[in-house]
This record gives sequence, structure tokens and C-alpha cells, in this order.
Amino acid sequence: MSLLVVGSVALDSIETPFGAVQDAVGGSATFFSAAASLFGPVQLVGVVGTDYPLERLDFLRARGVDLAGLEQEPGESFRWAGRYSLDLNSRDTLETRLGVFAEFRPRIPPAFRHAEWLFLGNIDPVLQLEVLEQVHAPQLIACDTMNFWIEGRHEALMRLLERVDLLLVNDGEARQLSGDHNLMRAARWIQRHGPSMVVVKKGEHGAMLFTRDFAFSAPAYPLEEVFAPTGAGDAFAGGFVGYLARAGVLDAPHLRRAMIYGSALGSFAVERFGLERLIDLQPDELQERVRHFRELTAFEDTMPLAAHA
Ligand code: AMP
Repeated sequence: MSLLVVGSVALDSIETPFGAVQDAVGGSATFFSAAASLFGPVQLVGVVGTDYPLERLDFLRARGVDLAGLEQEPGESFRWAGRYSLDLNSRDTLETRLGVFAEFRPRIPPAFRHAEWLFLGNIDPVLQLEVLEQVHAPQLIACDTMNFWIEGRHEALMRLLERVDLLLVNDGEARQLSGDHNLMRAARWIQRHGPSMVVVKKGEHGAMLFTRDFAFSAPAYPLEEVFAPTGAGDAFAGGFVGYLARAGVLDAPHLRRAMIYGSALGSFAVERFGLERLIDLQPDELQERVRHFRELTAFEDTMPLAAHA
């Protein structure tokens, strides 16, 4: 499998009702590759400043993530600060400091250009478009975005959508992008503007996949302790795309299973702050959780009902 991710490699400052961290290693590409590397090798392209603690990414290298496309430029790393509400389902961005991202132009190393699976992590859609100019016909182009870019780069985002196969967004972003509060209609609106598949993530209420032929709903894994949701969306994407890349197939049964792997990875991400839970997550722990998902959702056909006619 050849799986390429281009996205942010960040320092996150997060506040939740249970605590706070400053400058934790995060970013869309980082969370994505931490999750996707459980399925096979990942190639990462991004940028950090001279202040970045690069040794904190060693665990990714050890898990088969090729960091040859991670540039280090003079200046400050991308920083994001967010605060979560008590139910952890909504968050406010307190600060987005682009730092070296402001000048970043993604350069895809020649060895990465034939990637069959591509995830455009949450970054400026102008840069996501630049990546598409440099890759050769991936089997799947998946992408993510967020309110910051929906507001600030709407036109480029719409041009990007025409060229991607799958958009993963959370419920608020789907509503904001489409201008429709109903999630089914919002997903259909997105499909009309390009991607044949849309995943709408709904935090503790699970996630839904919409294709042209079917819809599929995956629950969120019920956890007694949810600590910090940052990175859950990118971990979901890493599980979803990582699974598909490993399977090498894009049919309905594999897409459904990808939703469960995505949900499982998202659930691990929220158990600790930042990357903590994903760093040493073992494949057998993931498989065990996927088995629980099956128990959680399996049911027999219903019994016949009374006939009144
Ligand atoms: P998630 O919780 O999965 O939606 O992703 C959170 C991650 O996205 C954090 O690690 C942030 O560093 C990163 N992030 C937040 N805002 C942006 C942005 N505007 N562009 C790129 N990455 C961002």
C-alpha cells in the first residue's frame, strides 16, 4: 500500500474541563499518521519551525511513517489553541497561529508522487490543491477541512471539492459548508459539489457515510472516560483511509468496515490528551475494540408482527 498524507504538524494548547496542556505535539498529519500507521507504511508531507521538538515524532518513524517530506523552516511552528465545553462535543478555537505554514508550499518528494491513497489533511485548501498538481492519479483522494477554511478560503475549497472523492467533516462543518441544518441534505449538497462520498462525524453520536448507492452509520464507542477530543477526527480519518489502503478495495463491505476502524481509532484518540493514547496503541487492542463494535451493533432479524388485516 502507498498512503500519502499532507497536513499540519502542530503544537496544540488544549483546555478541557479536566485539565489543560500547552504545546502538545499535534496536527492533522500527525494524528492521521499515528492512526494509519497501524495498517501499513505512511508517507508524510508537512512543515515545522525550528522550535519543533522533532524527537517527539520518533514514534511515527518507528511505526513506518516516512518523514522525508517533513520540512523544517526558520520560524515558528503552526500553533493551535482550543477550549472544549463540558460535554466535549463542541469546541472554540482560541488561536490559530500559522507560523511557517503561512509561507509553506507543499513539495511532494518524487518517491511519494505515485501514492495510490491520498489524504489531504486539514490545511489551507489552496495548498491542498497544490498537492493535487503533484500527484499521479491516486485511487482515492480523501480530504478534511474545518470552519477556519470554510470561512476564509471558500472559493478555493469549492474548487478542491470538485477534485476529491471523499470529504470527511464534522456535523457543524457540514452544516456550515452547505448552509443546510439537516445532515442528510447537507451531505447530498456536498456530493453535488464533487465528492462521491461524504463522511459526517458527530462526536459522541458516531459517524455516517454517504455514498451514491448507500448510507452507513457507525456508532461512537461508548467510553466511561472521555478526556480530550482533539485529533479524534484525524485519527478517524487515519483508521478509515488506512484500512482501505491496506485492503486495497473500495467496495461497500470494505467502506463499512473502514467506518468501524475509523470510529475505533477516534475512540482511542479521546481517551488521553493529544497523541498519548495513540503512541503505543497495539494492533491487538484495535482488533479487540473492533470486535466490541460488532457486538455493539449486531442484531437478529425482527420477529414477525401481528397481522391485523
Ligand atoms: P481534529 O480534532 O481531528 O479536528 O483535529 C485537531 C487538529 O487539527 C489539531 O491537532 C490542530 O493542530 C489541527 N488544526 C486546528 N486548526 C487547524 C487549521 N486551521 N489548519 C490546520 N490544522 C489545524
